This record gives sequence, structure tokens and C-alpha cells, in this order.
Amino acid sequence: MTSAPVMLGMRMPDVDVWSDRVAVALGQNPSPFTGPGTNTYLIGTGPERILLDPGQGLPSYLPVLEAAMQRVGCRALQEIVLTHGHVDHIGGVRSVLERHGPLRVSKFPWPESDSTQAGLELTPLADGAVVRTEGATLRGVFTPGHAPDHLCFVLEEEHALFSGDNVLGVGTTVIPNTSGDLGAYLRSLERLLAESPRRIYPAHGPAIEDGVAKLREYIAHRHERERQILAALERGPATVQHLRKLEREGRVRAHGDDRLAARWELV
Ligand SMILES: [Zn+2]
Repeated sequence: MTSAPVMLGMRMPDVDVWSDRVAVALGQNPSPFTGPGTNTYLIGTGPERILLDPGQGLPSYLPVLEAAMQRVGCRALQEIVLTHGHVDHIGGVRSVLERHGPLRVSKFPWPESDSTQAGLELTPLADGAVVRTEGATLRGVFTPGHAPDHLCFVLEEEHALFSGDNVLGVGTTVIPNTSGDLGAYLRSLERLLAESPRRIYPAHGPAIEDGVAKLREYIAHRHERERQILAALERGPATVQHLRKLEREGRVRAHGDDRLAARWELV
């Protein structure tokens, strides 16, 4: 799960080449939460490349991945790297392994979630870990908040950033109620800003050309939301009953059926 339903309707090509060392194959999993679907990235310039986030595991994805490999002259996958363990990122690992043989699969550990991936061997990737392939160097940046195991990756050769679900090409990132952490998320955004990325390659939606401006916009947006909530509470104590009242009046709306876990926004 990634972003608010505003992303539905955006279309992107199944296969696209975004730079000399970055090609994208769409995960074939469009939805209100994934927008056009997960961007799965082939990274590098050689005959063997890194696959970052193999999508959700839909059968229609494998031919798209193969078309992307052919288009850029990638004859085999070197290894799989994950930004985090949400299903639209890790779900495709098994079918890619079945098709492309045993490969190293690495991610930042999240024991509660990783233990649900029975039989899948996951190599731990730490903050600052470097993964290399011909023409590309990825450096992991631990960025929890959207998920407790989230890594972004700096692409050193381009001074670019693979942002996973921390920054999106469209919509805004969801901070899940149970495993998310808004404070950690804001610190992660500040950490990414300190990297001064030029371009951002998000997990959903098109590439973002001015990474620094987009990160500043995300940080400002979260601070503005906080200010609005505090201003609302200053007018009197609020409970979820207030939100339900406002919902009945058509002034706010909730995303999610569980009213306690829902995200609320002004109409
Ligand atoms: Zn996610």
C-alpha cells in the first residue's frame, strides 16, 4: 500500500528507459493504492543488472520484465534488491526467482514481516550498504516511517535517489496506522534532503526532476497538516466522533472502512 486514491487514472508505458542506467518495467498492478502500478527498476549498464522491487507477483509482469531486459540489452539479472517488504514490492520475488534462477535478494530486516515470507532467503542490507553492478552504485539510506524496514538508494553516478514509497511521482505517501511512524517519516525526509538528490525515481508514478524541491514540498506539506490539526484542536477538544459528525455533514471524508484506522481529509 502506498498512496491516496488520487493516483488512479494516471497511465504510464509498460517499459520505459529513463536514463543510461535506469529502465522501468511496470508491475501490472494498477490500483487506487499503487497508482499506475509499482515501478520495477533495471539498474546498470552491463549484461547483468540489478532488479529493484520486482512488484506484486502478477503473471502478466514477467513478459513485461523480459521486454524491458531486451530493450536495454540486459541478458540476466544480477540480483534483487528491495526498498521494503510491502506486498506490492516483495510479492513478485518468487515468480522472478522461478523464472530467472536463484539470485541474492536483499533488504533491510523487518523480522515480523520477513518471517511471513516462508522459504524465501533474505540477505540483510544495512544503512549505508553499497550494492554495485556495471555502471551503477547504489547506497542504502535507512528511511523508516512509511514502513519500519524502508531503504532508499542513492544512485551515486547520477546523484539521483530511488525513493521507494517515501516520495511518490503522484499522490502522497500513506503512513500506515499500525506499522507507520510519522515522526520517523519526517526525519527520513530530512535525511533524504541532506543528500540533495537531483532526480528522484519513485516506486509509483513518473520520475521527479527536481528532487530537492519535491522533498521540501513533502516536508512543508506534513508541517502544514500538523498546523491545521493543532489549529482545529485549539478550537476545542476533538474525538473521532467529531470527525464522524463532520463526515455526516459532508465536510470531511475518510479513506478506509475502519473509522478508527481511517485517514481523514477535508472535502
Ligand atoms: Zn509501501
